[in-house]
Amino acid sequence: MNFFLTNDIAFRIRDTFRTPCYVYDEKTLRENAQSVKGFPSAFGLTVRYAMKASPNASILRLFDSLGLHIDASSGYEVERAIASGFDAEKISLSSQELPANLKELVEKGMSVNACSLHQLESYGKLFPNSSVGLRFNPGLGTGGTKRTNVGGPASSFGIWKDTVTEAKEIVNRYGLNVFRIHTHVGSGSDPEIWVRAVMLSLDIVRQFDSVTHLNIGGGHKVARIQGESTTDLQIVGTPMKDAVEAFFEETGRELHLEVEPGTYFVANAGAVLASVQDLTSTGDDGYDFIKLDSGMTENVRPSMYGSQHDMRLIPSDDLERGEKMYIVVGHCCESGDILTPAPADPEALFPRKFPEAKIGDLFVINGSGAYCSGMSAKNYNSFPEAPEVLLRTDGNLDLIRRRQDPASVYANEIKLDFQ
Ligand SMILES: *Cc1c(COP(=O)(O)O)cnc(C)c1O
Repeated sequence: MNFFLTNDIAFRIRDTFRTPCYVYDEKTLRENAQSVKGFPSAFGLTVRYAMKASPNASILRLFDSLGLHIDASSGYEVERAIASGFDAEKISLSSQELPANLKELVEKGMSVNACSLHQLESYGKLFPNSSVGLRFNPGLGTGGTKRTNVGGPASSFGIWKDTVTEAKEIVNRYGLNVFRIHTHVGSGSDPEIWVRAVMLSLDIVRQFDSVTHLNIGGGHKVARIQGESTTDLQIVGTPMKDAVEAFFEETGRELHLEVEPGTYFVANAGAVLASVQDLTSTGDDGYDFIKLDSGMTENVRPSMYGSQHDMRLIPSDDLERGEKMYIVVGHCCESGDILTPAPADPEALFPRKFPEAKIGDLFVINGSGAYCSGMSAKNYNSFPEAPEVLLRTDGNLDLIRRRQDPASVYANEIKLDFQ
């Protein structure tokens, strides 16, 4: 596998911005956007970026300049995308919770996928005789672990497939026009699962004559470590395109396709640069530990899912070093703050081989572009939010988020007086 963060760039980042620090690679972001824009489609394609994967304004602005639209998971994400410069018309909301200012956001141009019967009812009351999308749970569940599964009977996302009649009843009551069917089951890299997901989605489209758009969500798996596999969009997309063409032959309906990956765009376009700040050993029957100045405050995925990230130690000197098996831990007072769990088992320790570590060495956690900065245990132990830096295509390093002022961690607190 090929990772962008070279030793030379790592030392430059440490010297300019200190560690821990997120680093993103503009070149990889551009290439990934290009690859999703080439997703096979029969009757037109809209590419959305699921911004929860990494919501920094500069990343949003780069994707805006490349013609991407946005999938937002909350009203606050919608406002964040608008604040970054996105037109509201390019934003689609699929949320577990409707925002309090739904009316205002829709009036600005945002589109909505109602993700429950209650949401559909609320939307109908606010905007009778208007257009709406429906997110369905088509009954198919995939995902690496139970915690990343977003479809099937164990998942709460979307209108359950067996309640189409109830949904139609609400649609008719408010004179709504269902223009889009949306499913997102996290299908991974297996083309067969993608085709099954599309077939189930087309079964739902068949029941709504007004639908012109089919959104099949994101969930394209990306290899973050040797041995995992990255989704080939041409391979998963071609049979899906065939299915949409067959649907046209059958019904005469040309469906516009929408895809909205998050992970695929950013996972390997980002890394966390940390420093080795301490070492310890629990003896011959125990483990050798590398302690970083980072951890679940920057990347909670290993602790939460047992995710595997490619990691690399960069020695701070040129002396010969042997190799050793280590458990890598973060700086939080939390025994779960571990970067080397067993695959899909966050509770088990799984030592990895690194050059013999010294305090002051640099340490790279690759594959940290998605669901890290946006989904960390930030401010735990009152550690301030780490800065974000973009490696530009011309080799410059641009700061895209400052390190948090430590006092802002508790700035919203109100100090009561006690006698
Ligand atoms: C999170 C999410 C995505 C993106 O999922 P990835 O696994 O990051 O590709 C797409 N659509 C919806 C509705 C989501 O909630």
